[in-house]
Amino acid sequence: MENEFLRTKTILIVEDDVSSRLYLNKILEKTGASLLTACDGKEAIEIAMANPGIDIILMDIQLPLIDGYGAARVIRELRNDIIIIAQTAYSLLGDRERIISSGFDDYIVKPIFPQQLIEKLTKYSQ
Ligand SMILES: [Mg+2]
Repeated sequence: MENEFLRTKTILIVEDDVSSRLYLNKILEKTGASLLTACDGKEAIEIAMANPGIDIILMDIQLPLIDGYGAARVIRELRNDIIIIAQTAYSLLGDRERIISSGFDDYIVKPIFPQQLIEKLTKYSQ
């Protein structure tokens, strides 16, 4: 369903697993948001640098080349206004401190449910 807050936003989805990436894309395209995708942390940094219009990044933690912590840290140094949300496995929840100290604004626990994801992103878009 189109979302009045998200339809004007540009969201970067960072996820190395193809089916998870398609799943997130499918959920978020219904909101009307503009979507970009990256498959690893290095690509996430490059896309974030090349697209100043990005409002929100949904970042997986376990990623090839540069992990989500490293990518968030670099992007946070460049952009203070961007919202960066970690997608984390339940087993990594103990790393909450590390998530916040790496520059993430918040996190969402996998498996990600559509309504939960949309509510979380909307919270940061009002
Ligand atoms: Mg991953």
